[in-house]
Amino acid sequence: MKWVKPGHPEYDETRKLFNAMIDRRPAVIAQCGTPADVADALQHARDHQLAVAVRAGGHSVAGMSTNDGGLVVDVRPMKTISVDPANRTVTAGAGVTWGEFDRATQEHSLATTGGRASTTGVAGFTLGGGSGWLERSYGFACDNLLSVELVTASGARITASGQENPELFWALHGGGGNFGVATSFTFQLHGLGPVVQAGLMLWPGEAASEIARSYRDIALASPDAVGTALAYLTAPSEPFVPANMVGKMAAGVVYLYAGDPAEGVEHAEPFRELGPTVDLVGEMAYADFQCMIDDPPDLYNYWSADYHAELSDEALEVIVDSARQLPGPHSQNLVARWGGAVAGGSTTTPLRNRDANWVTHPFGLEETREGGQKAREWVKKFRHHIAPYTTGGVWLNFVGDEGDARIRAAFGDENYARLARVKAEFDPLNVFRGNQNIRPVHLQSA
Ligand SMILES: Cc1cc2nc3c(=O)[nH]c(=O)nc-3n(C[C@H](O)[C@H](O)[C@H](O)COP(=O)(O)OP(=O)(O)OC[C@H]3O[C@@H](n4cnc5c(N)ncnc54)[C@H](O)[C@@H]3O)c2cc1C
Repeated sequence: MKWVKPGHPEYDETRKLFNAMIDRRPAVIAQCGTPADVADALQHARDHQLAVAVRAGGHSVAGMSTNDGGLVVDVRPMKTISVDPANRTVTAGAGVTWGEFDRATQEHSLATTGGRASTTGVAGFTLGGGSGWLERSYGFACDNLLSVELVTASGARITASGQENPELFWALHGGGGNFGVATSFTFQLHGLGPVVQAGLMLWPGEAASEIARSYRDIALASPDAVGTALAYLTAPSEPFVPANMVGKMAAGVVYLYAGDPAEGVEHAEPFRELGPTVDLVGEMAYADFQCMIDDPPDLYNYWSADYHAELSDEALEVIVDSARQLPGPHSQNLVARWGGAVAGGSTTTPLRNRDANWVTHPFGLEETREGGQKAREWVKKFRHHIAPYTTGGVWLNFVGDEGDARIRAAFGDENYARLARVKAEFDPLNVFRGNQNIRPVHLQSA
């Protein structure tokens, strides 16, 4: 195990998270390569009465995977990936990123729902549910879990699966890092790729309202194998973007067909009939598509999200109005189409309101701290205007630290109470509170 403390030459690089807004200085970062290292790190935290944070891919936009003056259990060294092609399963160490995961499973033309950004950690992403392009076919990442290995707050090594600790296993389907340090995950895989029909189409901002309405109707009629989102963004300066669009707001459609690429052409056709100015949808390696829209690191982020049962023309106008005020060239509003396999799983996971048809996900990414504040205002303003059209549900992976009411809204009262009972059993002292925190049932009134 490697201990990285202030003054260590790698301290600043090691403590850095994806979101540049977060600038915290832990007393010690324990880089753990094994479950035994994790147990030692937790013992060290107990001996020195240090607050604990757990860090994998470092993509928590709220910065929940670090702290000031505490101990960070850094699982990044746990990098093993073992694919079992015959049984279509994979076991991935807690330090694996989705880029690494997808490359390894695609060697066997297998995949499961993974991150839309290749740099995201498998660990935090999956424990928070895990929404990705394959979800309408295969459900969220957590729906594909077969088992999770964990080290509990007391240092015990346990397995959670349908057979062992089933109540804990249920809680790990979206309940986040509340219950222990996960050291490895075993997933069910599905046949996919290596080549798929996928990519991006773009229209000029002037067509934003018309594209929004047509997109909604086409996406609602598309089969479950179509993973898709509408995106409002600033057209980048790239050779494939006409000069008169560069630097201006554009409407985009992200498209992935989880099946035969030839069938994928057919189902892309209704989107194509809308006459995109840029059409990058075609055959490409699934693993390449998975890193096609990676957000740049070292930017100042503010994010949020809401669920919608339907998007009326009025609701779409709110989205388009907000897109006309994007705070800067890296910020976007993503309108992801749910439905299909997402709508199942209401009893096997604590995640509420899985039958929502849409998720709006405004994310501000700016180049300066002041820009980050501007992004925050933009996101908050959008949420205020879209509020009448929301269901009240929230995808916690997409939000910063928005308080206890939003955490409860993600699960609903009944599931939250059940999660709090699991928490009381596995982490009664709330050692793991550097997360979207579920307080143990006996600490609820504290
Ligand atoms: C660029 C980008 C793209 C994203 N795209 C998506 C997307 O498409 N779909 C989606 O659902 N989310 C997405 N997210 C959100 C992301 O899934 C969550 O922020 C997730 O928590 C990140 O996981 P991580 O391991 O990278 O983060 P970390 O910051 O390392 O951890 C995040 C949280 O998980 C806990 N945690 C991490 N590892 C462990 C572990 N081993 N055991 C227990 N708890 C642990 C941490 O304590 C922390 O609370 C994206 C985020 C970014 C920045």
